[in-house]
Amino acid sequence: MNFCSACGATVSFRIPQGDSLPRHVCDTCGEIHYSNPKLVVGAVAEHEGKILLCRRAIEPRLGLWTLPAGFMENSETTADAAARETLEEACARIEVVDAFSMVSIPHISQVHLFYRARLPEPVFAPGEESLDVALFDEQDIPWDELAFRSVRLALEHYLADRRAGRFIFHSDDLAMEPVKSM
Ligand code: ZN
Repeated sequence: MNFCSACGATVSFRIPQGDSLPRHVCDTCGEIHYSNPKLVVGAVAEHEGKILLCRRAIEPRLGLWTLPAGFMENSETTADAAARETLEEACARIEVVDAFSMVSIPHISQVHLFYRARLPEPVFAPGEESLDVALFDEQDIPWDELAFRSVRLALEHYLADRRAGRFIFHSDDLAMEPVKSM
């Protein structure tokens, strides 16, 4: 950030009085511009035992499979966000059940939250951000072509809990991925 969104003057990156972390502070009007983690919300939607996945039409991870998920919007609940993202990315109307997997990813300042959901009718289609949408049996899930580690975790937790016959809440932290040699 270079300029204040309140008055247009330049900002400094410094620790405001009484604070403990550096912030973008306006040199003119004194406005403090906070930057906080973003919440990504998604859904594991099941229809007759199969799980709804989307193949990404956008970067990052274009062409890889993911659960419908995206950044939460202002003025909605997390359950609303899960349903909205599934409608946008998979053109599917789900019944949200409960949150079950939360993943903190501090190096990118994000928290990913996944809901369990039911897809009452097998009606879906690729939304703007998807190349393809499909229902997968457990044995057909494309584990080697998943877009995000939080998605892999959510799917692993979901399937393990389903096998165990009970769902619990899972909380994980992800550290930065080691750099792979090309
Ligand atoms: Zn200002």
